[in-house]
Amino acid sequence: MHLESFIQEEAQRLGFAVAGFASVGPIQTFDRFQEWLARGYAGDMAYLARNEVLRSHPSLLAPYVKSVIVAAARYPSASRSDPWSNYTLGKDYHDILCGKLKELAESIRGQVSVPLLSRVCVDTAPLLEREWACRAGLGWIGRQGSLVHPEFGCCLFLGELLVNLELEASPPISDRCGACRLCVEACPTGAIQSDGFVDARRCVSYLTIEHKGEIPVALRPLLGVSLFGCDRCTKVCPRNRTDAEGIMSQFAASDPPLPSPEACLAMTEADFDLRFTGTAVHRLGLKRLQRNAAMVMENQKLE
Ligand code: SF4
Ligand code: SF4
Repeated sequence: MHLESFIQEEAQRLGFAVAGFASVGPIQTFDRFQEWLARGYAGDMAYLARNEVLRSHPSLLAPYVKSVIVAAARYPSASRSDPWSNYTLGKDYHDILCGKLKELAESIRGQVSVPLLSRVCVDTAPLLEREWACRAGLGWIGRQGSLVHPEFGCCLFLGELLVNLELEASPPISDRCGACRLCVEACPTGAIQSDGFVDARRCVSYLTIEHKGEIPVALRPLLGVSLFGCDRCTKVCPRNRTDAEGIMSQFAASDPPLPSPEACLAMTEADFDLRFTGTAVHRLGLKRLQRNAAMVMENQKLE
């Protein structure tokens, strides 16, 4: 069996929906990334600008890199209106995907005759991961700014493995958004710009998760009941998969149920740790969760 086929089968055995390979070369979307930063669309995600140059070529992260293996894991797609984004239903994807990509590297190590050098990236390193996902044949960047796979849709977590192996690059998939603008129309805040940029400062996901300060007063009513994240643009995407087949098991369920805004406001730090340790919500912290809960309760009064 070819090494590439072995890696793809091994990735699927580990629970990934799909994996592909990109040959290393200069980044093609770096100018766009710089333009996005220059327009201020990154909001207060200052760390993105700090590591700007490192994103221009993965060899600045791992000098030995010859190929980037990109693996995508499905999480449940939004099928209901909920204050919580569907990706909060399971465990923190950073931890899960890092562990699985390390396992994948160990499996590859057993198959190759050269010493394997590798680095795992899951939002943990300055890598323009969506470009690598496209170059690895996993899909295209939709108007909403996220990767869309023709079969697995857009509710995907991405992880990368930088390796010192020359792997055959996967064929790219061309943009299939066509005339569709459903995500643009579904966005409550106008975050998706007509020139293909997404202004994070207006995006509900950014405002409820990444943004550290107060949520701008003018935008608050537009956020509706969003406590953590936003699935509106993925929910309407015709490529979105709603079945459960192939969802990575660690992201499948939430037990016990997620708390109401009122319950969030009543939480102590100990309650918060007990309920959210090991989930993506824990990175948010109780203070920001309670900021969001107070806003949601104000918005509910307007309904
Ligand atoms: S996540 Fe929500 S706010 Fe952000 S672009 Fe999508 S629909 Fe708009
Ligand atoms: S909703 Fe339409 S335009 Fe938006 S990403 Fe999906 S296919 Fe592309």
